[in-house]
Amino acid sequence: MIRKFSSRSPRKTKILILGGGFAGSNVLREIQNKFGNNAEITLISQDNFFLFTPMLPEISSGMLHPSDISTPIRTFCKTATFCHARILSIDLENKAVSVIRIFDQKETMLEYDYLILAMGSKDNFFGNVKH
Ligand SMILES: Cc1cc2nc3c(=O)[nH]c(=O)nc-3n(C[C@H](O)[C@H](O)[C@H](O)COP(=O)(O)OP(=O)(O)OC[C@H]3O[C@@H](n4cnc5c(N)ncnc54)[C@H](O)[C@@H]3O)c2cc1C
Repeated sequence: MIRKFSSRSPRKTKILILGGGFAGSNVLREIQNKFGNNAEITLISQDNFFLFTPMLPEISSGMLHPSDISTPIRTFCKTATFCHARILSIDLENKAVSVIRIFDQKETMLEYDYLILAMGSKDNFFGNVKH
C-alpha cells in the first residue's frame, strides 16, 4: 500500500500580542511556556524595549543609568517573533491588525486567530495640567 504524505505542515494558530509593557511581556512569557512552537506568536510594540517604570525616579535623580531599567523585548522572545511597529488600527471582522514598521515606515497587515490587547492606557490629569 502506498501512503501519501502531505508536504504541508498544519497551519499554526496565530497569536498577536499588542504592546510590550508589563502586561504584554508577562502574557508573552505565559503563552510561550504553554504553547512553545505549537503556535505562531508575534509581539508588536512601538518601543523595542521593556521599561521598568517603578525605578524611573532613580533615573531622574541620577542614581541609575536608563539602560539599568530597560531590557530589549527581543530577549523575552524565545519562540515568538518581535515586530517593531506602531499599531494603526484593528479590523476585528477580518481578524487583522494594520501596523507601520518603525525601520522603514512601511504599512503592513498582520492576521491573527487570537488577539491580546496590552497597549497600556492614556494619562488623564482631569484638566489640571496645561500643555
Ligand atoms: C514613574 C512610574 C512609577 C510606577 N511605579 C509603579 C509601581 O511601583 N507599581 C506598580 O504596580 N505600577 C507602577 N507604575 C505603573 C505601571 O508602570 C503601569 O501600571 C504599567 O506600566 C502598565 O502596564 P501595561 O503593560 O498595561 O502598559 P505599558 O507598560 O504602558 O505598556 C504599553 C506598551 O504598548 C506599547 N504601545 C502603546 N500604543 C502603541 C501603538 N499604537 N503601537 C505600538 N505599540 C504601542 C507601548 O510602547 C508599550 O510597550 C508606575 C508608573 C510610572 C510612570
